[in-house]
Amino acid sequence: MMTAAFAALGLEEWRYLRLPIAPERFAATARALPSSGYRGANVTIPHKVAAHALADELGEAAAAIGAVNTLSFEPDGSIRGDNTDAGGLIDALGGPAAVPASALVLGAGGAGRAAAWALREAGADVEVWNRTPERAAQLAAELEIRHTLEPGPTDLLVNATSVGLDPGASADDLPLVETASVVDLVYGASPTPVIRWATERSAQTVDGLEVLVRQGALSLELWTGRVAPLEIMREAATRASLS
Ligand code: NAP
Repeated sequence: MMTAAFAALGLEEWRYLRLPIAPERFAATARALPSSGYRGANVTIPHKVAAHALADELGEAAAAIGAVNTLSFEPDGSIRGDNTDAGGLIDALGGPAAVPASALVLGAGGAGRAAAWALREAGADVEVWNRTPERAAQLAAELEIRHTLEPGPTDLLVNATSVGLDPGASADDLPLVETASVVDLVYGASPTPVIRWATERSAQTVDGLEVLVRQGALSLELWTGRVAPLEIMREAATRASLS
C-alpha cells in the first residue's frame, strides 16, 4: 500500500520496510532509525505504548489515547508520536459530520481505546463493552464515557476486539446488538464474521481494510506532507489482502 503510494507520488527513493523488533530493543532501535535515513515508522502490536513513551512530542490523539502508531523523525532530531488509528476510523466513516449520535465500541484494548476516544471527540455518545469487564470500566472512567455489560441498540457498532482474526471464528461471543451501521476493525481476505452478520441485517458496513487504508493515508501525509493517493492505496491494500 505504501509502496504503491510512494510510486504514485513520484517518491521513487522512498521505501516502506517491515522491521520486526523485540520489545526490549524497541527504544534503542527506534532512536537509531533517523541516522539510517528513516523519516518515520508505523508502530504496531506490541509497541504502541512504548512508542508513546519514546516520543518527545505527541499529537492530541496520541496523548489522549496513550498509544502511538506513527513516529515521525523531525529535522531537529526530535521524535513526534501520532495516533492515526483514531483519525483513520473517523475518515473511514466519512468524517466527523457522518458520525452518528450513539456508538457502541466492543473491545477495550489499543484499538478500542482509539475508537472510543475518536468517536467521543466526534460528538457521539459512546458506550464500551469488553470481554473482561474491568478493562471496559477503566477505559470508560478515563474517557468519561459509559461501560456496559449488556448493550442495547445503537446507531453504530464498532468491533475493536480481535474476534474474526481467525477466519473460521464465529462472533457468537460478542454482544451484536441492533444497529444501523457497523465498523469491523479486523480485516482479512474474506468478510469477517462481524461484517457477515451486519450484511445479513442490511446494516451499513465499513471493513477493517478501509480503516487500515485511512490510518495509513494519514501517516503517509505526516511523513511526506503530500496528499495521500487514497484510491491507489485502497487498490494495493485490497490486492495484498487477497494474495
Ligand atoms: P489488543 O490490545 O490485544 O485487544 C484485544 C481485544 O480483543 C481486547 O478487548 C480483548 O478482550 C478482545 N478479545 C480477544 N479475544 C476475544 C474473544 N474471544 N471474545 C471477546 N473479546 C475478545 O488488540 P488491539 O490492538 O486493540 O487490536 C484489536 C483488533 O483490531 C485486532 O484484530 C487488530 O488487527 C485490529 N486493528 C485494526 C486496525 C485497522 O487499521 N483496521 C487498527 C488497529 C487494530 P479482553 O480484554 O477480555 O482480553
